[in-house]
This record gives sequence, C-alpha cells and structure tokens, in this order.
Amino acid sequence: MTLTGITVAVLGCVDSGYVVRTPCGNTATVSTGSPIHGARVVIDPGHGGPIYTGAVGPNGLVERDLNFTLGQAVIDELNRRGIPTISTRTGNYPTLISVRTLFADAINPEALVSIHHNAPTPAGSNTPGTEVYVQSTASGGVSADSARLGGLLYEAVTTALAKFDGITWGRASTAGVLRVLSSEGRDAYGMVRRPAIPAVLVEYGYLSNPAEAALFTTDAYISATALATADAIDAYLNTERSGTGFVEQPRFFNPQPSRIECAEPTLE
Ligand SMILES: [Zn+2]
Repeated sequence: MTLTGITVAVLGCVDSGYVVRTPCGNTATVSTGSPIHGARVVIDPGHGGPIYTGAVGPNGLVERDLNFTLGQAVIDELNRRGIPTISTRTGNYPTLISVRTLFADAINPEALVSIHHNAPTPAGSNTPGTEVYVQSTASGGVSADSARLGGLLYEAVTTALAKFDGITWGRASTAGVLRVLSSEGRDAYGMVRRPAIPAVLVEYGYLSNPAEAALFTTDAYISATALATADAIDAYLNTERSGTGFVEQPRFFNPQPSRIECAEPTLE
C-alpha cells in the first residue's frame, strides 16, 4: 500500500524504491509503502472515478459509491472477525479490471468478491433479484470453489434482503448463481475470467429500481448485506457448506470493449 493508501501490486525493486502497477495500468516507482501480507480475502468495489460511475439510481445514488460503502463495511466486518481482508480500490479513483485482478492474484487470497449493483430493472418480483456470476474452469466446466463461494453468497444475501418488507424487487427469470459466457465460451466478465484465485461477482440488486435505490441509501441495507457477505465468506473459508441458487444454464453476453480514460491517483 502506497503512502496515499492506494493498494498496488509490486513488480520489482530498484535502488530508489518499488516498481508498481498503477491503477491505470502504467508502471511507476514509489519510494516506500507498507507491505500487505497474509490477506485471506480481497474485496473489489466495482467502478471508480469520474467516468466509471457504474449505474446511477433514480435518486442520484451512484453505484461506484454504493459499492465502495458496502465493500468497506464487508472489509471491516471480516477484519473484525480476524479474517484479514484488503480492497482493490481504496478511494474514488478509476482502476482497470486487469490491474484489480493482477493485484488480487499477487495477494493470492482464498477468495475474491467483486461488489456491484445492477441495471436496468427487469420485471417486478416479490423475491430479490440478486445475481452471482461464477468462474469457468480451463476445460469449460464450472469451477467448484467459485460455485461454492457463489452459492453461499447468494443464500446469505437473498435471505438478508428478503427481511426488508414491502419492496417490489427487480428480478430476471434466470437470477441465481450462474456463469455468464461470451460467444467464444469464456467468462464474459474480466473480474471473473482473469483471476487465478476463486472469484465471484455479486450484483446485489437493482439500483435502477426506485424501491431498491431508496433501500440502498440506508444504513440498515449496508449493515445487513455486509453481515450476510461476511457470513458467506466466513462459511466458505471455515465450512464445507455449498449454498444455494445454482442455475445450470449459462447466460450469454458479449461485453463491448470500452474506451479507457483513466487519470492516475497520487501514489505518494
Ligand atoms: Zn457495476
């Protein structure tokens, strides 16, 4: 971690300090920093910076900030339980998917959880529309570790959300724990495809849905979902349980290559 609190992967050492991979994917030399050792979990709050805001709710709530708030609450809860946890993004700055996953693999934790909130809203439902995207193996099957982590997260998060009364949730008919594949048959999302470690991406709910967007502004939502997420990760690390919500049929999606406009945060 650099002097300004940015978590970076160290590529090498030179006389003047450490060569690191910057959030925008460049190399830079920093004079000093604090090493990150022994993290068992990496949390990835999706999006960041002025351009990559993610979804924006009808109430103005920005996904970038919501993911960060929830991510910090999860990190605090896991650290409190003695499960060392670190973030791919420690402030409001952009950082590339390839940089996030390089950092996560360098830490080599037991689990990587990417936090997102979904849009646009599908049909209304009286059950939450949480989705968890899990990893494929090299041979094209489902990664057992990623699926178990995903099932535990899905079970805990949907159980926690269902306790909020009177909300009409957005929910796709195929919601659950599933793989999302490109037409080439690979995992569509880089946060799932790139890491060598077990990884999942969680879409907690629909920020585009006014009823959910209102809920997401509350401390009750953050604390309930942070606790559920920490419980699921704790169960993944410390039990053999496998969770629920598996959807056999993969979904197909081809992400558009996005133009990259990335302003580096100050490293020191
Ligand atoms: Zn997102």
